[in-house]
Amino acid sequence: MKYAMITGARRIEIREKQQMPAAAGKARIRIKRCGICGTDVHMWEDGETYKGLIPGHEAAGVIEEIPSGYDGPLKEGDRVAVFPAEPCGDCQLCRTGLRNLCLPPGSMGLGCGLHEPGAFSECLDFSIRFLSKLPDNVTYSQGSLAEPASVAYRAIQHADLNVGDGVLISGAGIIGLLCAQFAKLSGAAYIAVFDIEHERLKLAYDLGDVTESFDVSSNQQPEKTLWTASNGGFDCFIDCTGHQNAINLGISVLKKGKKMVCVGINFEKQLMDHVRIVQNELEVKGSFGQVEKDFDECIKMIGAGILDVDKYIFKTIGFSELQSCFEQKDRQKGTDLKVLLDPEKD
Ligand SMILES: [Zn+2]
Ligand SMILES: [Zn+2]
Repeated sequence: MKYAMITGARRIEIREKQQMPAAAGKARIRIKRCGICGTDVHMWEDGETYKGLIPGHEAAGVIEEIPSGYDGPLKEGDRVAVFPAEPCGDCQLCRTGLRNLCLPPGSMGLGCGLHEPGAFSECLDFSIRFLSKLPDNVTYSQGSLAEPASVAYRAIQHADLNVGDGVLISGAGIIGLLCAQFAKLSGAAYIAVFDIEHERLKLAYDLGDVTESFDVSSNQQPEKTLWTASNGGFDCFIDCTGHQNAINLGISVLKKGKKMVCVGINFEKQLMDHVRIVQNELEVKGSFGQVEKDFDECIKMIGAGILDVDKYIFKTIGFSELQSCFEQKDRQKGTDLKVLLDPEKD
């Protein structure tokens, strides 16, 4: 079985190993597509912390082996998407619906490819409980996008949008643009996105869900520009960057009493305009990952033709191109929104 492993800082290598029988409760999935995510690139850059790990948590494939004793609805040959987190199901968080925040003992609570073998591999053994069957008309590529799509979908549900709202999004990466699509589906009348990469913003506009895009790197008065463009402030702000400059700009053009949803993650502490949050009674809501319901609803929306994920796919590569793809992602500033690995390509 071929797989890709992080072997050091900025190194991912292709290896081969003998397959062992799958552990109890785990199905064997032949991986057909796995998305490359910013998190994978971050792990690759670091290298030391993640040495020996197989990345990849945006996977779709076909069930090759069902675990013995399983009597659920799935069967061999079923096409599935992998729900990558592994909530325990028993703790207080799981029991109250916050399965995305569950931290089972001994895990980082981050799912496959982040603390255990991921899907940059010909085969993945994974708990059958966390496999979602794909409708016949949903491709493996589309199925692999259920993971990033459901991150944005959860954020949009937290945003509580009303028809006619003005929505501001920071960060024109795939999560930001998926948020824009969901905002449009929710009836937002005006959707603005800002970023500091001109090429990204151009692409964001071309994809059709964004009303206006703003390059704040070259703007001396971005607050004034956004205030005027939004006709006196936004009804909602979704931060997909995790950076204080973006967060504070967003807060500064949010109408009083409105909400900011934070999706972007930055492990460095960030300074927020606290006075404005208090004096304008702004709501701040975090949104982390997704629960199975978010994931399954995204698959349904893709199947029903409501949610378009194909437009984010930049290209599909084989194992041999992984290392160069990571190097490129590092340089390209994100105009290659989604690159997928096809383990059978070479
Ligand atoms: Zn991801
Ligand atoms: Zn739990």
